[in-house]
Amino acid sequence: MTRSSRRQYSPRDRALVAEFDALERRIAKLEHEQSLLYNTLSGLARESDLEVSIGSVCTRCTRSYVLIGNGTLYCPKCHSRRTV
Ligand SMILES: [Zn+2]
Repeated sequence: MTRSSRRQYSPRDRALVAEFDALERRIAKLEHEQSLLYNTLSGLARESDLEVSIGSVCTRCTRSYVLIGNGTLYCPKCHSRRTV
């Protein structure tokens, strides 16, 4: 938004635009942090002696990715376990 275009907005609209911009920056930051955490977690799983990898989102609780190892899917959040 340029300075001249700001004049077209009411104070309420300017506040909404500012709030939208802040939310957009916050979402971009959270997406970046989520990517960092996923990459770090995948690296830990790959580098550890646990010999596990990160799977899809747990279908039972949807609050964690499942860990895959030794022919088993395990959710560290709800502790559900099933064989592959
Ligand atoms: Zn779960």
